[in-house]
Amino acid sequence: MEVQKVWDDSYKMLIGGKFVDASDGKTIKSYCPADGELLASFPEATKEDVDTAVKAAWKAFESWKNVSAAERQDILMKIADAIDANKQKLAMIETMDNGKPIRESMGDIMLGADHFRYFAGVVRSEEDQASIINDPGSGNNLSIILREPIGVVGQIIPWNFPFLMAAWKLAPVIAAGCCTVIKPSNYTSLSLLELAKLIAPIVPPGVINIVTGRGSTTGQYLLDHPDFRKLAFTGSTEVGYSVSEAATKKLIPATLELGGKSANIFFSDCNWRKAIDGAEMGILYNQGQVCCAGSRIFVQEDIYDKFVAELVEAFKKVKVGLPWEHDTQMGSQVSQEQLDKILSYVEIGKKEGAKVAVGGERNTEGPLAKGFFMKPTLLIDVDNKMRVAQEEIFGPVACVIKFKNEEDAIAMANDTQYGLAGAVWTQDINRAIRVARGIEAGKVWVNQYNNLPAGTPFGGYKKSGIGRETHKMIIDEYSEIKNIFISLDENPTGLY
Ligand code: NAD
Repeated sequence: MEVQKVWDDSYKMLIGGKFVDASDGKTIKSYCPADGELLASFPEATKEDVDTAVKAAWKAFESWKNVSAAERQDILMKIADAIDANKQKLAMIETMDNGKPIRESMGDIMLGADHFRYFAGVVRSEEDQASIINDPGSGNNLSIILREPIGVVGQIIPWNFPFLMAAWKLAPVIAAGCCTVIKPSNYTSLSLLELAKLIAPIVPPGVINIVTGRGSTTGQYLLDHPDFRKLAFTGSTEVGYSVSEAATKKLIPATLELGGKSANIFFSDCNWRKAIDGAEMGILYNQGQVCCAGSRIFVQEDIYDKFVAELVEAFKKVKVGLPWEHDTQMGSQVSQEQLDKILSYVEIGKKEGAKVAVGGERNTEGPLAKGFFMKPTLLIDVDNKMRVAQEEIFGPVACVIKFKNEEDAIAMANDTQYGLAGAVWTQDINRAIRVARGIEAGKVWVNQYNNLPAGTPFGGYKKSGIGRETHKMIIDEYSEIKNIFISLDENPTGLY
């Protein structure tokens, strides 16, 4: 497939319904990680720009907070339709900016559209409540429980699923009736800036403000701004601490979607045809740059040798290629920095005593030499205590670890600071449920991996985060609850 130049040479930010440059005119350049070509430039927001965006959001909130659920539903549906109508273009931009295979970008865009549709459904099912409270102390009362939007929120998202993470953040904001200032990663800002052009005619000015820039500058300005009522962050656990501290200083809530080191557990009675595919899906999807990647593959001892042998062969067959080609199964890592980090972990693993069963190096075949391509990699002879089994590598590198029985598998799966996800592969339903319940993680798949449709909550235990997204329960995180409590008695209390 040919690359179609569907993106602009330069983009502007969306602030208060207008497309603007940074106040000091500074820009950042975005390059395609697969071939190093310059794609576009976009603004690096100053402190003043962030402040302008926050003010625009508060101004919009004055009327937006009273917009009916039916209107917000309509807006969410229109955004979904606009995404669908532009899905080829958005997918191409995502692939060029991030390096992920086009088939995956297309999936992300469609899932993103569905996310807006899901929250369009949620909006109309959110009902306030009223009840009569009749207790001996206070007599007859009517209690009305109202949900109100929390206000203006600050949102920061990562580079691994730029469009989908934006959808995960923006849809609940609109559904809840909040306004936002959102910042994408400076590595991958283009798909959100392209979405800005689609949503600007649909959403009232100032409801969604998009500021672009680096984490250390623009991101920090967001964290420092005093006028947010909530922060929402997806990214590394390291930066998650800073977000949490910033929220604590302001005494506002923060939802955090952070890193992981998830266990993909294969019992000897697993469905073999699905299992090998499931191990690949867990660690090769999105070049392994997935927060919930199944980066620790636990295999029961009696099938271990056969499993490793077949997985090695399967990894060798994976088509690593230019991401815009339709038959590419694995594209480019997002940056030189990310590739270097992955390669350094392979070296750390070797020093710790792990063996590279397949891969372990950069792929520089033919046209891939210009990009940051990595070979699918399996580390064997790994002990769960090793750094490669404990730290997030964020690449197509899985550690394979042998286990004896259920207890053994659960204990090792939980021996990590993280708790984002995991999976269990078995044909014994009772075992599947026992193990799924035993794993300390927010998402446990059974006989599948990396399947994250809207309507199924996602979020982490332990150092993987706070809060759940992709389900209507996130609306609570963007809401304040107000109780209006009305006396129905004609008489005074009589206490004075
Ligand atoms: P990152 O933490 O480096 O950056 C995330 C975002 O934070 C970016 O927009 C970045 O510009 C910004 N940022 C960086 N430093 C900042 C600072 N000091 N102040 C304010 N903002 C700052 O993460 P990344 O490398 O973009 O993404 C990879 C990480 O994200 C991985 O750890 C992955 O597990 C995690 N992730 C988690 C989920 C989830 O749902 N749990 C989903 C996707 C990615």
